[in-house]
Amino acid sequence: MIEVKNLVKKYGNHLAVDHLNFTIEEGHIYGFLGPNGAGKSTTMNIMTGYLGATEGEVLINGHDILKEPEEAKKQIGYLPELPPLYMDMTVREYMEFAAELKKIPKIGEKSYEQAAGFLRIEDGEKLVKIKDVEKRLIKNLSKGYRQRVGLAQAVLGFPEIIILDEPSVGLDPKQIIEIRELIRKLAKKHTVILSSHILAEVREVCDYI
Ligand code: ADP
Ligand code: MG
Repeated sequence: MIEVKNLVKKYGNHLAVDHLNFTIEEGHIYGFLGPNGAGKSTTMNIMTGYLGATEGEVLINGHDILKEPEEAKKQIGYLPELPPLYMDMTVREYMEFAAELKKIPKIGEKSYEQAAGFLRIEDGEKLVKIKDVEKRLIKNLSKGYRQRVGLAQAVLGFPEIIILDEPSVGLDPKQIIEIRELIRKLAKKHTVILSSHILAEVREVCDYI
């Protein structure tokens, strides 16, 4: 469960988030809908501990994201608007790196295989297919594949909550369908929050808006 209480974010004099309150319950897909500039990415960056708030608090299963960041962050997987990918790494190297950053025990082969296995089993090889591109440099992947690698990184370690910032921006229609299917499958085991500026998109995928 995530509780966002009286969240305020000011960039200098610019008020980006104005006393925002909401609660996210387990086991649903939530759509975070708003036009460009509404403050979606700002809110998600605060919820995931990337950015400090001006006022207010965020509790992840009761843990304050600023005061108990390790406990809180363990429960979250995050795909930021610009996926934090290293272009000169192969997919495999990047997944191992992400596992290490997340302090996933038995780093390397096992954790990566677990994650890839989870994705393959749950979502079908056809859908995710990161195994097929694991030896390739990320810079040589299509946008759709990069987004999948970003998603795979977000689900590493099986966090309870998965937060996706505009996961389908820049994808072609076929890739959008694939990502939507993947999100629906993820939601069987995880709470998913995704942002979008497209009403039809959140209506299509989400239980709550
Ligand atoms: P969204 O993700 O909904 O498009 P953002 O959270 O990116 O919205 O931005 C909310 C507002 O805050 C926008 O007006 C944006 O220009 C502004 N903003 C975002 N990041 C910064 C920053 N680092 N410095 C100053 N203003 C920012
Ligand atoms: Mg944004």
